[in-house]
Amino acid sequence: MGVLDSVGTLLAEIANLIADGQRILSLSDKRHWGQDEREQERALDSVLDEARKDFQELGPLVNGRSQYEHDRRHDSMEELRAIRAKFQALTDKLKDWSRSGGPIDPTWVRETYSLKRELHRAQCRAAMRVFTSAREASQRCLGAFIVQRKQRAPTRDAKAGIKPDENTYRRYFADELLACKNVGAFQRFGDQDIAFVCDFCDGHLVWEDIERMPTVRSSTQAVPPGSSDKPVSLLANDSNWQALALSNCGQHQKQIIFAPVAIANHIIPTHGDWEAKLLCPLCEAIGEQPQDEDDDEEPYRPDEEFDDVKSLQEHLEWQHGSSTLPTTTTADNNCCVM
Ligand SMILES: [Zn+2]
Ligand SMILES: [Zn+2]
Repeated sequence: MGVLDSVGTLLAEIANLIADGQRILSLSDKRHWGQDEREQERALDSVLDEARKDFQELGPLVNGRSQYEHDRRHDSMEELRAIRAKFQALTDKLKDWSRSGGPIDPTWVRETYSLKRELHRAQCRAAMRVFTSAREASQRCLGAFIVQRKQRAPTRDAKAGIKPDENTYRRYFADELLACKNVGAFQRFGDQDIAFVCDFCDGHLVWEDIERMPTVRSSTQAVPPGSSDKPVSLLANDSNWQALALSNCGQHQKQIIFAPVAIANHIIPTHGDWEAKLLCPLCEAIGEQPQDEDDDEEPYRPDEEFDDVKSLQEHLEWQHGSSTLPTTTTADNNCCVM
């Protein structure tokens, strides 16, 4: 133990501790079980399921499973060792309980779920460290990369000759939202804002003054998939990055950046920062196309970073503005909080 720890060995030890807990429960006399014992069993099952799933999914994203498994970066080792100690403590408590009998402590269920969350985030961060070390600084976060991969699904399918029907589109949209939920969580931020906090980099993306996060793009609302000949794209283009939201007090509607578009383009915050910067997906797409050498103008800088969601939105509106002009009303003075 210690010097030769790696992501793989520590995760295996944690999995063994969870399995010990499961075994203790399964060997106890189920005739005396109540709701709490059953919930404890479910909680342990779900930790192990998620840990396994994370391990299987994250490995291939970071240059192959073995790189992730054998990684021994200091921060990842520290985090996983701390979590292992917590699982050890939980298993010890379960052992004591099985010896002394009586009802189980119902607070252990909550403890187990919070350990599940810690373990999930530790795996995300460990994978991200492998992911970023292979690239240059200031790049897209692994969480962003995962969402972007989902957004490429229609293009991938099209190349493979798959013609999407309405159900396929519905699945694309659902998968995109699910990918966002898998890489982080939305939460209220202050009185009026909503933030997305990434599990991988801890970066926050903040949408100011909105009541709820819209779950569909404005373009999809206007032209539902299947009703037009034009294929729907999930990758940001000049007409599909917006979503219609209600301001916090419900006084006016405004166009905001559709959450998955921002999430798929965020950068790991630099040390000490909490807010994630963003890349412009439209500039990036243009940067990937062959450039016209006679073009003197240089309006597109694929490497430009934007400090927050708001400044990326301003850039999108001014630099890539097209048929869909922002409908943000500037008359904020009738807002109920003012
Ligand atoms: Zn991130
Ligand atoms: Zn741009």
